[in-house]
Amino acid sequence: MVRVRVILPVLQCYSKGGYKLESILIRGARHLLTVRGTRGPRCGPALNELNVIQDGAILIRDGILVEVGPSRRVENLAQARGAIEINAAGRLVMPGFVDSHTHLAFPPAGIQASDPVAAVRALHTATGQRLEVRTRAYLEAMARHGTTTVEVKTGCGLDEAAESKLLRMLFAVRREPLDVIASFLFRLTGELNGGSLQATEWVVGELLPKIHRRGVAHFADFAWDCDAALLPCFDRYLGAARKLGFACKIHADGPSPAAAIALAVTHHVVSIDHLEHATACHARQIAEAGIMTTLLPSASFSGDGRDAPARALIDAGVGVALGSNFNPHHTPALNMQTVVALACGRLEMTIEEAISAATINGAHALGLAEKVGSLEPGKSADLLILNAGHYRDLEHSLGTNLVHLTMKRGKFIYKEGEVAPLPADDFVPHR
Ligand SMILES: [Zn+2]
Repeated sequence: MVRVRVILPVLQCYSKGGYKLESILIRGARHLLTVRGTRGPRCGPALNELNVIQDGAILIRDGILVEVGPSRRVENLAQARGAIEINAAGRLVMPGFVDSHTHLAFPPAGIQASDPVAAVRALHTATGQRLEVRTRAYLEAMARHGTTTVEVKTGCGLDEAAESKLLRMLFAVRREPLDVIASFLFRLTGELNGGSLQATEWVVGELLPKIHRRGVAHFADFAWDCDAALLPCFDRYLGAARKLGFACKIHADGPSPAAAIALAVTHHVVSIDHLEHATACHARQIAEAGIMTTLLPSASFSGDGRDAPARALIDAGVGVALGSNFNPHHTPALNMQTVVALACGRLEMTIEEAISAATINGAHALGLAEKVGSLEPGKSADLLILNAGHYRDLEHSLGTNLVHLTMKRGKFIYKEGEVAPLPADDFVPHR
């Protein structure tokens, strides 16, 4: 009863808008996962360290974590006096999920990804407002499932108007309710261009500089194609993107990723993702170069069922992150709790590795680890209160939403509903 009485006024304050709470004390968490650790991406055995506090508490001020520790200590701090108190007794508190790889915006809903011309046409006909409404609906669904930061790729090929429309829309939704990190995904598609080299020159000479000037994309990504003839194009693209100041990523879901990995090493990309066709030998190369990877166990459901060699990558010392690969067509799954469970079941990751990969390493893969991904003083108060007594519950709850509350920058952006008879005035009478 205490929990309900205390939490509801907090949520009502926010829902009326404008009122900012100064201090919040979350106390009594059965397990508090801080995921605190070394400064760089977690690799090898460090991926297993979640730094769990039993009966833990968190003090938040102005959206920033002030203290994280045992309840007995934190609740007695002078700064905790007068704070709004949230009782998390019996529940699990952990960092919000950082989903470091999605295709949320392209192709638009209702269009097959295998038909890029139709997908771009659909983007041209949709209004910016309609795209934004649909995207916000996806982001809200992510918030309900515990994601607090998400990367979103474009990927319209070589159509400037369509790319600009998507990037403008992603810029408009970049802060509420989640942080949205936009990536420009360069995709060479035969249907949309004449010569690939010519098309690449146009992207590096015109499109990328424009995107850079507008500040609407953080990463320059490209969809790897194992056609050797395209290698010079990808090499040119990465060189130009880096020169402009973009951090780079490679989308390597195709077979024979050796050349993609060589490019990743040459151009010091932040991460090379998917890697369903990588081998143990590739894993060693990636580890030696200190490149991260985002693995996507949900993607295997609609692809050829092949999983990335997560064990070989982790054992070689690669900093592994996990993402949903959410795409309304190929991977219609945006729940990072499911991604964590699949990483344990299909990729043979331990639950501790999977949680680190879905939080702090996701933050590293997006260059945001100074701000999010773990619960440490000075970081943003992006956290979850879960209906779980132990973090291992995440491993055994495929598809179930365990989220009780989602907090972003110190604001609760989601609270689970009750199962109860709804009041009659929730429904419009039939005339
Ligand atoms: Zn992908």
